[in-house]
Amino acid sequence: MATIQSVTGPIDTSDLGFTLMHEHIMIASWSMRKSFADWVDVDAVKDRAVAELQAVGALGVSTVVDLTPINIGRDIHVIREVAERAEIQIIAATGLYYTEEPWLEAWPPEKIVEWLIRDLTDGIQGTSSRAGIVKCATNHAGVTPVNKKLLQVAAQLHRATGVPISTHTAVENRSGLSQQDVFLEEGVDLSRVVIGHCGDTEDLAYLEEILKRGSTIGMDRFGIDMILPTEQRVATIAALCERGHARQLVLSHDACCHIDFFPGGPELLAAAAPNWNFRHVPQDVVPALRKAGVAEADLVAMTTDNPRRIFEAQGAY
Ligand SMILES: [Zn+2]
Repeated sequence: MATIQSVTGPIDTSDLGFTLMHEHIMIASWSMRKSFADWVDVDAVKDRAVAELQAVGALGVSTVVDLTPINIGRDIHVIREVAERAEIQIIAATGLYYTEEPWLEAWPPEKIVEWLIRDLTDGIQGTSSRAGIVKCATNHAGVTPVNKKLLQVAAQLHRATGVPISTHTAVENRSGLSQQDVFLEEGVDLSRVVIGHCGDTEDLAYLEEILKRGSTIGMDRFGIDMILPTEQRVATIAALCERGHARQLVLSHDACCHIDFFPGGPELLAAAAPNWNFRHVPQDVVPALRKAGVAEADLVAMTTDNPRRIFEAQGAY
């Protein structure tokens, strides 16, 4: 047992329950929001998120990890209100996205850490809601010098507080392995790291290379069928379970109740990716895995035991 930080206060890891390890309540550019009041209808997003989280709660999910980094619009006021109204546990993150902003060039990692650590120790945006996990991201460009710095920031935040790290990767450049290399250089125990978006590939050799080094992998983009359809994602997980890796897999969607990456709004997105929501895993994926021969104990491991273990290892901070 360990006490960890949810946005509505400390919780015991024994109460985490069925946990979706990589989701987003709202992704909306801070600078566009500050410049254009109607960039996002925050009240509508909150209402939609509350309905979505109540629905996923009714399906047995107790905890959602919101991995929105600071610089794509993490807004703790929104996350916290949604958690309170939907009566669901949400764990928020600190960390920066892979987008390389001008100010990052000249800042050494230690100086960035001095700012971000306040999210973990004091609270986010002047509230008492503390971050419970560290997010970092590497995309198509791979580990550039600035990206390496951001991975070092994540490693240092983790080492100072003990909270786990969870990442975004691009499978086509095998950046999960490059991230692990940087974390190792920084003295990180790789079993405290979730390498994200590994469910985007069927390349078992790549996934087993990551697993062999001790990290958990996020099979965390269920519903993004344009990258890989559910059927293939399920088959990949079934194959990994068959090879004995269930203790190192977690499930999620990387879904968003609002995301401004695409014009057209939530309606267009729902039409393009109808299963990209918080319900697909408990509703469809778990039964599909069962049908594919995945043992009950492995399902409990991936949805409940592994998230608990990942958070529990940190102890108090
Ligand atoms: Zn994400």
